[in-house]
Amino acid sequence: MAPILLSSIMPPASTLRTMASIRRKRRRRELLYKLLDDILRTMNSKPSSSSSSSKHPVYDSISSSHLRLSIPSTTAGQLGLEHHPTRTALAKLLENPTVWQAATKMTFESELRLRPPKLKGGSALQKTRHDHVSRIAKSWPLRCTKLRAPKGLQNPMNYCYRRSVMQSLLHLPQLLHWIDGHNQGQNACAFATPSTASGGSPGGKHVAKTAPKSSQCLACAMKAFVPLYWDPQNPHAEVPQSAVTSFDKVVRASPVVRESSLGMETQEDAEQFLSVLLNAFESSTATPAWSAQFASLFRLQATNTDTCACGTVTHPTTGAETTLRLHPNGRKDTIAAAFRRHFAPTQLEKRCAACSGPGKNGQLPPSRVHTRTQTVDAGPELLVVQLTIYDDYGNIINNGTKFDDFLDLTKYQTAKDLPLKYKLSSVVCHQGRRIDGGHYVAHVSGPQRTHIISDKVVRKTSPPSLTNVVQIVPGMGRFTPYLLFYVKIA
Ligand SMILES: [Zn+2]
Ligand SMILES: [Zn+2]
Repeated sequence: MAPILLSSIMPPASTLRTMASIRRKRRRRELLYKLLDDILRTMNSKPSSSSSSSKHPVYDSISSSHLRLSIPSTTAGQLGLEHHPTRTALAKLLENPTVWQAATKMTFESELRLRPPKLKGGSALQKTRHDHVSRIAKSWPLRCTKLRAPKGLQNPMNYCYRRSVMQSLLHLPQLLHWIDGHNQGQNACAFATPSTASGGSPGGKHVAKTAPKSSQCLACAMKAFVPLYWDPQNPHAEVPQSAVTSFDKVVRASPVVRESSLGMETQEDAEQFLSVLLNAFESSTATPAWSAQFASLFRLQATNTDTCACGTVTHPTTGAETTLRLHPNGRKDTIAAAFRRHFAPTQLEKRCAACSGPGKNGQLPPSRVHTRTQTVDAGPELLVVQLTIYDDYGNIINNGTKFDDFLDLTKYQTAKDLPLKYKLSSVVCHQGRRIDGGHYVAHVSGPQRTHIISDKVVRKTSPPSLTNVVQIVPGMGRFTPYLLFYVKIA
């Protein structure tokens, strides 16, 4: 395979801010893919092409402005692609000079190193995060755009809580691109090194001795699962059962899962599964670059500011969560109001270094009233909002809260000079009396349209229904939105 880079085809994502231009971009992309197909078909029908020509050529977007096209056995020059009529049509369509370049390993890597547009404004953390993720494409991988509908996932156990989370993750293009980079180049799989300990690793006691350690890696498992899920060659409405079974096996073997309290036979909370899965993805590669990318994709970094009555300000550290927990109050409430309450100032008592003074008679120094405000230092590319619809014991107490397609968190930031806006991608919905019981379904936005998926059953929906407070699945009844998956758009 000699990869060929198509440069200057896609405008950088940062120039595509408005919804109108996003639609134009999609149209351009569709036309481009059609033309690429045409070129590839012509090449494959040439007698000079290699015996592997029956294999479908591989092409995929590798960043927001580049497409990688891998052509079997030979180079573009030898194929005479420079004068191909479709190429002329392509160039005309895009009104942009298209560079065809037979890539060597060196040119390929230098293309990848092309500088992404710098962030204008923002904090140091926002700039660093931007640099870490700006090369991870936000567009749908080509293979996904070729499918009319997503695929169902069989559920032989009570794994609907896993299936609904998987469906939502499989509908996040940036995650698909990112996970594809696992165990490639610098991002070596942490499980790939052979175990030298005679007794095996602590997490591997139930795994057969002959099994490779990568069989415990959920990032490897996800990377292998993506092409089987988004497989345009598979005409069936379901992913092959063997692929689903293999993934379940890795969940069972993963040391991260085993260290968690996630049950293997019982129904669990979908949010718990999501957290464990993301943890496993993060620890799958032990490099700072991988962790930095993970944080940029999934972690909401916030700062607490505590102000004492005397005016002294302190900033106690806060954790960077992968799920933002909101506490809505039912039907009459809105997610916007829940966000206002979430970021509203709170009062707390603690000692103040400036005005508490020393403790008298061996007592601790007295506490002072402080006002605490929390602000967002950097929002993740992929934001998961959990609507806590249950009480401390897991009993459902909330029948849904109004939420929107778009989410604007700009005013909750520490530095407000850059916007922080999101668009809804998927909703995991729950039905039943307990959060670790009942049934889970996923309502997802694909490259073409929206679908609601209950295990292996996939149904078309219309986009406005994605934000319904009560989600109806024909034949199954009413479901309550529980996890909202948002994608950063600005
Ligand atoms: Zn791995
Ligand atoms: Zn004070």
